[in-house]
Amino acid sequence: MKVTKYKNLYQLTWAPMLFPINCYLWENDDDIIVIDMGVKSFVSEIKKIAERLNKPISALLLTHAHADHVNGVPLFHKIFPNVPIEISERDFKLLDFTFKNSKYNNFCIIESPGHTPGSVSFFEKESKILIAGDAFQTRGALLFQEH
Ligand SMILES: [Zn+2]
Repeated sequence: MKVTKYKNLYQLTWAPMLFPINCYLWENDDDIIVIDMGVKSFVSEIKKIAERLNKPISALLLTHAHADHVNGVPLFHKIFPNVPIEISERDFKLLDFTFKNSKYNNFCIIESPGHTPGSVSFFEKESKILIAGDAFQTRGALLFQEH
């Protein structure tokens, strides 16, 4: 598991040299928002980081419903049963499991259909960081563009 940190963003990458699967953590002042949950092993890593930062996880946001973005969701939901999980209505229909839904948080949601009909991207206004799931990819790295 490779962990890369940039500003408030943590990128967890499983199999970075083979078939990179990413999960992101956004650290706010009082909580942590998780984006995508492609493999089960992200859950224990996220738990460790949250405990180290001493902050609760307030939401899990999913960019789309492909397996490499949602396979860890059932385990995540078991370990963090009270954390709301969000996905577009369109891609929610593709899942073979369910979870408690609630409102989106302070990330801007940008509809980004193409990779899947219900793909969305998450934009953090203050840092101008965009997390686009598979609508935009880099291989095994974060792509930085300073403004
Ligand atoms: Zn995909």
